[in-house]
Amino acid sequence: MARYTDSVCKLCRREGEKLFLKGERCFSPKCAFERRAYAPGQHGKTAQGANKRTSDYARQLRAKQKVRRIYGILESQFRRYFGMAIKVPGVTGLTMLQILETRLDNVVFRLGYTANRAQARQMVAHGHFMVNGKKTNIPSAVFKPGDVISVREESKKNGFFKDLAEVAEKTNAAMWLERDLKNMSARMLRLPERGEIDGNLNEQLIVEYYSR
Ligand code: SF4
Repeated sequence: MARYTDSVCKLCRREGEKLFLKGERCFSPKCAFERRAYAPGQHGKTAQGANKRTSDYARQLRAKQKVRRIYGILESQFRRYFGMAIKVPGVTGLTMLQILETRLDNVVFRLGYTANRAQARQMVAHGHFMVNGKKTNIPSAVFKPGDVISVREESKKNGFFKDLAEVAEKTNAAMWLERDLKNMSARMLRLPERGEIDGNLNEQLIVEYYSR
């Protein structure tokens, strides 16, 4: 399974804004963007100033790259999601965001189980979860309303899950998920509404990018 392996902080610096890809560190003075708020690389400082990115194409590309990087998805899969979204009646941009939000790794993140999506992806890939009673280790599996996610009995003995209820209690799960920390399970109530997805994303520009 191909994935991005370089420093994720470079992605924030490339996008020119904080994407909050790490968890607690993003809110601390150690955040790389706080210390170096310019593009990475030898010409980063000068390149970002010189490139105003004002063309339609540049804005569409940046909007697409930003969402792709936030959710940690490679281009080919992201394009596939657009293909899936366009076939669904309704607003394509919102449908695409809903697909991204209901990926299993994102559901684990939205339940407050992990500090970031990369960690959630790893927990899923290591086979710690079941969906509707069946072991699942595919981070890209799409969750549907009514589906139930639970931690496998074997995994509950693992140190991470022993402390999970205590850690997760301090966070709120997304409103479209019903979390049961005592039993380490959760049910998806409905699809997320636009207002429940990060507001600072421009899905319309992504639709325009792929519709060129
Ligand atoms: Fe981005 Fe977080 Fe790294 Fe800061 S610490 S640059 S917000 S990933």
